[in-house]
Amino acid sequence: MADNLYGRRTLLTALGALGLGAAGVALHRPAPLGTALDALEALPDAEPMPIVFVGHGTPLSAIDPNVWTAQWGVLGKSLPRPTAILSISAHWLTRGGSLVTAGAMPPTNYDVRGFPQELYEFRYPAPGNPAVAREVADALKDGIPVYADTEWGFDHGTWLVLKYMYPAADIPVLQLSIDFSRPPAFHYELAKRLQRLRSKGILILGSGNVVHNLSERGGTGVWQHPHDWAVEFDQRMTKAIMDGDHAQAINFRSLGSLASQAHPSYDHFLPLLYTLGTAGPGAHVRTFNEGFQWPAISMRGFVLT
Ligand code: ZN
Repeated sequence: MADNLYGRRTLLTALGALGLGAAGVALHRPAPLGTALDALEALPDAEPMPIVFVGHGTPLSAIDPNVWTAQWGVLGKSLPRPTAILSISAHWLTRGGSLVTAGAMPPTNYDVRGFPQELYEFRYPAPGNPAVAREVADALKDGIPVYADTEWGFDHGTWLVLKYMYPAADIPVLQLSIDFSRPPAFHYELAKRLQRLRSKGILILGSGNVVHNLSERGGTGVWQHPHDWAVEFDQRMTKAIMDGDHAQAINFRSLGSLASQAHPSYDHFLPLLYTLGTAGPGAHVRTFNEGFQWPAISMRGFVLT
């Protein structure tokens, strides 16, 4: 996981690259529009977009379509077409604030090693949108310092899923980093500030896994014999979410060893808290992609409306 930590130093480097100055300067310098999408304030309010959490599993699914990726494709076709997508991926962790991708054409970030060459040849060429980045920063500014980033792009938590959900890559995509120095409840509360983006047609996408323990690995298919503790954690969290009992999800660590088995590091659980916080406890919830890819990788997703 240490390899995935995008530290304070890197954060400041990114700021320097943008010419935004020293730490503490939020994202408010106007940037050129990368696409024709107008600033959100100019868009009429629409029916709030559904919110999605996807269990992404192994990056190998990028080159080996399977039962999980098929459902991501079905999901993309079933949702109203978003004006933009804001992805919160387990693979972009920062400390001391959050970063939001602010470039017009964010790069595809190959943040994984040791996979077949074919995986590194895939590119997800969706545009970014600096105007939406400013809106995201503005929505969050009273909760956390938010800085513009033009280096990270889309990591595999984002491109692996969107490759199948939106294969044309013609919808602007942004990523928001997770400040890993903050406790779980902070992320749930912070996400409430994203609610207003829904009525502007922005799809909030959380990408992680309800259970994520990499101690044993396998292929990309359905694992027939997940660990009992993995199934128990998955089912407990699912019941809590279906019941609107978000406190149980926020306080998942109170399950002690069950939680630490399910999440030796809980980076993959935090994107779920963003989707719950944005949706609120009264949301209608449906779950999809039930099952395990490896003995302790739950591929379960949720759609909240
Ligand atoms: Zn992952």
